[in-house]
Amino acid sequence: MSDALLIVDMVNDFVTGKLGTPRAKRIVPNIRTLANAARDMGLPVIFVNDAHLPKDFELKIWGPHSMKGTKGAELIPELKAGKGDYVLGKQTYSAFYETSLDTILRGHGVDNLVITGLHSNICCRHTSADAFFRGIQPIIPEDGVDSLTQQAHEEGLEYIRTIYQGHIVDADKVLKRWK
Ligand code: ZN
Repeated sequence: MSDALLIVDMVNDFVTGKLGTPRAKRIVPNIRTLANAARDMGLPVIFVNDAHLPKDFELKIWGPHSMKGTKGAELIPELKAGKGDYVLGKQTYSAFYETSLDTILRGHGVDNLVITGLHSNICCRHTSADAFFRGIQPIIPEDGVDSLTQQAHEEGLEYIRTIYQGHIVDADKVLKRWK
């Protein structure tokens, strides 16, 4: 059994910028605690952030956001990447889609992926799908993910739980698992 911590889209545009939500504030301290615990345990910590290119298909829905190279695409100041952490860019919802995430997880023999960040019903959901397709167990701390509304958050969690057999837990439970 080997775990990794994934932190999705905790960039300025999703927290305080173009698509920002005050709801994201709730999860920041929990993600930071999980990241520190994972580093202490020698588990991979992987940030995967939108780094959009001008013609990305997804921009038709959301408008330009988290554009590669802009301030909006930078990690929020509260969540600096640590020394051995991975930081990857992505161009759509899933953290697996055309990124090196799969290679990194296989390289570490990861079979349980703790998914945190934004949004429960969009990128966390699509990332859970791609984990499931690969036989990797998604583990979602409900206080480590959030969405634009409470309803969207809950619907995302419910979908991940029922369709991808995601384990919906809280950050404390993950910390205990890593002790
Ligand atoms: Zn995006």
